Amino acid sequence: SEELPQASAGGEVEDRLRQDLPHSARMYDYFLGGNTNYEVDRSAAEKVIRSFPAIRTVARVNRAFVHRSARLLARDHGVRQFLDIGTGIPTTPNLHEVVQGEAPEARITYVDNDPIVLVYADSLLRSSPEGATGYVEADVRDPAHLLDVVRRDGCVDLARPVGLSLNAVLHFVPDDADAYRIVRELVERLAPGSYLTISHCTPDFDPDAWAAIVDVYTKGGTPLRVRSRAEVLEFFGGLELTEPGVQVAHRWHPEAASGPSLISDAEASLYVGVARKP
Ligand code: SAH
Repeated sequence: SEELPQASAGGEVEDRLRQDLPHSARMYDYFLGGNTNYEVDRSAAEKVIRSFPAIRTVARVNRAFVHRSARLLARDHGVRQFLDIGTGIPTTPNLHEVVQGEAPEARITYVDNDPIVLVYADSLLRSSPEGATGYVEADVRDPAHLLDVVRRDGCVDLARPVGLSLNAVLHFVPDDADAYRIVRELVERLAPGSYLTISHCTPDFDPDAWAAIVDVYTKGGTPLRVRSRAEVLEFFGGLELTEPGVQVAHRWHPEAASGPSLISDAEASLYVGVARKP
């Protein structure tokens, strides 16, 4: 749509937006019904929709989990600082709006490596007056550097517990050795009493459709690695999973409007979990 930055504008940010390749953040935005995407993203997204029409449900179920899990941490576990890696293009409500609805003094640092998120970061930075939000650009594949940048930003205090969320981002880290190392290195550097929240796409319920989806992303230049339940469980090694453990997203503290009576496991195709660092 016309208000998006265009390559012809010729600026540095515009060059980095890479409108020649589909981007995961912009495809996800399209699945959610947003306008922050280019033709190249819509055409890749439409290919995914043809292989698996329920992908829009996956995106919605994921977003609902992002909200439920953050709300639960703020309300029932007293979490007052959040570090959200792989934030995505802002969509209402954003994580801080949900959290600050429970605890206005909560502080949230958002992290993404896609420059388009920075272009739209304004709405991420509209904190409640009692709390604070920050945005930093960093890559999850370099966890030590990422946490340095977060520390320098100063919005959250890493010496105290945080709710670390890695929602719908680890399936963009294809190498298993790297993916497990990344999560371990992030969690190692967090204070005891911190929480780890993960949502992750899975091929378990419709392997053929997910093979086709992996193909679309990978050919578009974004390797995708969907994982089984056991593989997602492994991310939580050494941590105390909260109830009900690693579950299909819509079965995790289900809501009437999007719970298991309305959506099948295949339509959700996401495993989720929330765990505490002892
Ligand atoms: N967490 C949000 C958005 C998920 S979309 C939600 O669950 O609703 C996935 C996001 O991860 C995109 O914005 C993409 O840019 C980001 N991402 C992908 N690879 C990344 C990396 N290596 N480092 C940081 N962010 C990454």
